[in-house]
Amino acid sequence: MPLAVGLPPMYTSTMSVTSHLRKVFEVDQAISGLTSRLQSADRFLAEQQRQLGELDAKVGAVEGESKKQKQLQAGSEKEVALLDAKLEQLREAMGTARTNKEYAVFLTELNTIKAQKDEKEKAQLEMMEKIEASGGQVTALQASQVERRGLVARADSERSARQAEIAGKLEELKAKRELLAKDIGAEHLKLLAELEHRLEENAMAKLYEIDRRNHEWACSSCMRAVPVQSISMILKGQLTRCSNCTCILFADEDQDVGAKKLKKGQTAEQA
Ligand SMILES: [Zn+2]
Repeated sequence: MPLAVGLPPMYTSTMSVTSHLRKVFEVDQAISGLTSRLQSADRFLAEQQRQLGELDAKVGAVEGESKKQKQLQAGSEKEVALLDAKLEQLREAMGTARTNKEYAVFLTELNTIKAQKDEKEKAQLEMMEKIEASGGQVTALQASQVERRGLVARADSERSARQAEIAGKLEELKAKRELLAKDIGAEHLKLLAELEHRLEENAMAKLYEIDRRNHEWACSSCMRAVPVQSISMILKGQLTRCSNCTCILFADEDQDVGAKKLKKGQTAEQA
């Protein structure tokens, strides 16, 4: 026969649903304590990988720009070679000019081409400077890449070490949790999971004693007073939640939550 009305038959043992949930909650807390160190190692590794990715992208961009400049440079060199050939032809033609007028025409054309060649050579110098600057940038970025790869490797081995460190204990706790969960209804497990997700270590809270003999207790998570009806539900082993922070409330046996109320003028010693 169920101990309390409204509880599924699986809670017919002497343990209430709250006590069952508390055991699972304690295991969950132990698991989260173990995994939090692994999670910080994960975050460190992810951050190092992100920074390395950024460097790789920068190197790619600078190298791409440098390649483009080199192609432009090569194209410009070919154009200058063509202009040189033209200049050579013009000089030859000038040597065989028959009239001053003809000579003057060749000279004008020669000067125009010379100006074009100067322009191209000036642009080539600028391209050259850009290519050199890119080269310097790539060298510096590659040095940072080497450094960052070292950090990624370190972060990776630290993560593996932490994982190995906790693996055995974690397996043990997971197995324990699985076993404990078998005694709890799915909807109660779901509630605990939801509260753990939202309230983390405050998903379940012990009653906080304000005045035991006057049945004044508070939720130790949010410190809001817990009404007498809730105290009596907790005593009956019914699942009871804080009306303020929504956590599941529990009491330890040694808290003597069900202590007899004091009569007027009576002290705790007299009771
Ligand atoms: Zn509360």
